[in-house]
Amino acid sequence: MTRTTQEWQAADAAHFLHPFTDFQSLARKGSRVITRAENIYLWDSDGHKLLDAMSGLWCVNVGYGQRSLIDAATKQLQELPFYNAFFQTATPPAIALAELLAEVAPPGFEHVFFAGSGSEGNDTVVRMVRRYWDLLGQPQRQVIISRDNAYHGSTMAGASLGGMAGMHAQGGLPIPGIEHIGQPYWWQHGRPQGLSREAFGLQAAHWLEQRILAIGPDKVAAFIGEPVQGAGGVIIPPATYWPEVQRICDQYGILVVSDEVICGFGRTGSWFGCQTQGFRPDLMTFAKGVTSGYIPLGGVLVGERIARVLIERGGEFNHGYTYSGHPVACAVGLANVGLIRSLGLVERVRDDLGPYLAQVYASLADHPLVGDAETCGLMGALLLVKDKAQGTAFPEALEIGMVCRGHCFREGLVMRAVGDRMIVAPPLVITRAQIDEMAALIRRCLDLTLADAQREGWLH
Ligand SMILES: *Cc1c(COP(=O)(O)O)cnc(C)c1O
Repeated sequence: MTRTTQEWQAADAAHFLHPFTDFQSLARKGSRVITRAENIYLWDSDGHKLLDAMSGLWCVNVGYGQRSLIDAATKQLQELPFYNAFFQTATPPAIALAELLAEVAPPGFEHVFFAGSGSEGNDTVVRMVRRYWDLLGQPQRQVIISRDNAYHGSTMAGASLGGMAGMHAQGGLPIPGIEHIGQPYWWQHGRPQGLSREAFGLQAAHWLEQRILAIGPDKVAAFIGEPVQGAGGVIIPPATYWPEVQRICDQYGILVVSDEVICGFGRTGSWFGCQTQGFRPDLMTFAKGVTSGYIPLGGVLVGERIARVLIERGGEFNHGYTYSGHPVACAVGLANVGLIRSLGLVERVRDDLGPYLAQVYASLADHPLVGDAETCGLMGALLLVKDKAQGTAFPEALEIGMVCRGHCFREGLVMRAVGDRMIVAPPLVITRAQIDEMAALIRRCLDLTLADAQREGWLH
């Protein structure tokens, strides 16, 4: 399928409605067509090479071109490309992956419900949480509490659980029974009050308690959060936050749901982000890194508190997807989790790459545009500010993040902008030398952005 970039762009604009995209603007500018990838690099249809510091969309944990994943998919496609898991049937890859996930998950997780994506996983969470309380004779426990600026997917339930104002503004969301509290973003909420990060972490956790009391503890079913918010801009909570959230949920008997779609499978230097952040969820949503994005797969790891009730109290759970436990997806998941293990990627992120990225980011913090530089494992964020000493933000209308992102693409780096936060989440197979290469590109793009700001007078 060789066409010129212009031909691809014309056909794209004519027929393909992209996710989260302003269609007219895309048609005007033309899409960037990515045609191949290897290791941590992408190539577009013009042959332009890019260092993919976002792992595709936070998912290609083992990097591109891994033979064992490709072979696992090929072999499974030949042997049994599809069979379902309804009506008392199963396939070997789904059984084996459920078993393997229970092995790598924290203690107390012995069961898995498979879905096709993270959004479907979170829809499953809503239904499972409410089913749990129904079975326990507390059907009034319906409310799920989430946070502003959370991302939990794009289905009706996923978008409702999420805290993205722009998503709620379209389609009559959130659905009933979902409430949001403030996010644990120190720069936004804690710094203006002069609070230390630790003190702010406790304050943000207490917002949860206040909301539980306002709703009535007997009406609250669960609290859901990403250990580290990803799409919201790599918001790393203070270390005091999650343990206090856990304490509060325990006190009121409320279920804790960890959305591990980004943080799972080694991203933060543990198998799951809750282990890094110090809490013990009852449910964990997963997707993305479970197959390193080679093929769609998601689901929910179900802790024993819930599994026991679902299983022992009996009755049919009227929920499932055609592709729940898809054999090819599960075969790729098996190969991927096996590869993460055999390469020791979780330990590498924890002991070597994570600390190294933190060190590199500490040096990027010297840059005149950088107000804050933070990392957690192999996730990093740089906050762009107008005045470093005062921590003053650029006016939103300047879209300073998009200016920087434009330079990144031109210089051969995929880095994402979320407002004024520039974020990375590179593949876990990245080397120290490649982290240096990424950092040099980041510094260069910051310099180019600074030069724009100086030339245009944005700094005054
Ligand atoms: C990407 C993401 C989702 C949604 O997953 P999809 O596979 O896109 O449906 C849910 N939660 C988090 C934290 C995510 O980053």
